[in-house]
Amino acid sequence: MTSIIKTRDLHKCYWVGTMPHPALHGIDLDIEQGEFAVLAGRSGSGKSTLLNIIGALESADSGSVEVFDQNILQMTQDRRTRFRLDHIGFVFQAYNLIRVFSARENIAYVCQLQGKSKEESLEIANHWLREVEIEHLGYRKPDQLSGGQQQRVAIARALATEPQIILADEPTANLDTQTGRNLIHLMQGLNQRLGTTFLISSHDPDVKEAASRLIKLADGQIVDEWSTIPKPPISISSACPVQNKPLGERVRIKLNRMFSRRRRKQSPKDNSRHS
Ligand code: ADP
Repeated sequence: MTSIIKTRDLHKCYWVGTMPHPALHGIDLDIEQGEFAVLAGRSGSGKSTLLNIIGALESADSGSVEVFDQNILQMTQDRRTRFRLDHIGFVFQAYNLIRVFSARENIAYVCQLQGKSKEESLEIANHWLREVEIEHLGYRKPDQLSGGQQQRVAIARALATEPQIILADEPTANLDTQTGRNLIHLMQGLNQRLGTTFLISSHDPDVKEAASRLIKLADGQIVDEWSTIPKPPISISSACPVQNKPLGERVRIKLNRMFSRRRRKQSPKDNSRHS
C-alpha cells in the first residue's frame, strides 16, 4: 500500500514572546489510503498541531509533509488553499459552521468555492444531508440544531467536496456519549463505503475503539502505535478488504517508531529551539 500522507522529521514550536512552546518534535508518520487512524495522547501532546500542518492550515518549522506525493509545505498560499479544497475535508470540535447559513447552504458553500454553480452545489448538499441522515433539517440554521446534528452537517460539508482525506479534530468532544457513538458509526460507515481516509484526533475511548490504527503522541513525539482490526461498523454496503480480516486480530507495529528513532540517531541535526 502506498502512503497518501507522509511526514518526515516534522518540527513545530510556537513562540509566545520569548517563551518557546514546543508542539512537534520529529514526527515521522505514514497514513495509507482507506485508514481510519486515530491520534491519541493527552491534551497538549501535539495532535491538533499535527492535523493542522497535514491539512495545510499551519506551517512547520522544519521537516516535510507530503500529501499525495506533493510537499504541501513548499506550496504558495494560493496553491495550498486550492489543494485543501480539492483533497482534504475538515471536521472541527466546535463544528465551525457559518451561523447565517442554513445547514444546506453551509454544505453548498464549499462546493461553490470549488467553482460549482449554486444549483449544482445545492443538489450536492441535499445528497450529503441524506448521507448523514438529516435531510429533513437542511433548512435549519446551526443554532436551530443540536450539537450532534451540527457535527453531522460539518461531516457532510467535509465530504461534499469529495476529498480523499478527512481530518477531524476531537469530533466527539462536545457530544454526549450516545450522540458521539452515532457519529463514530457514521464516520466508520463512510470510511468503509467510500474508502475516504480518516485521520482523527481524540481522547474519546469510543473513537479509539473504532480505530483501524492508533497513534499515540506524547510531548510532540509518536511514542506508540498499534494497527488494529476494528469491530465491524453496523451497516456496510461495500466494505474495503482490510476490514474483512478476522476480528480480534491485533498486530502491534512499532516500525514507525523504530524508523523514527533510527533516523534521529543518524541525523544529528536537531532544532535547538525545541530542546
Ligand atoms: P493537543 O491537540 O494534543 O491538545 P496541541 O497541538 O494543541 O496539542 O498543542 C501542542 C503544544 O503546542 C501545547 O504545548 C500547546 O500549548 C502548544 N500550542 C498549540 N498552539 C499554540 C499557539 N497558538 N500558541 C502557543 N502555543 C501553542
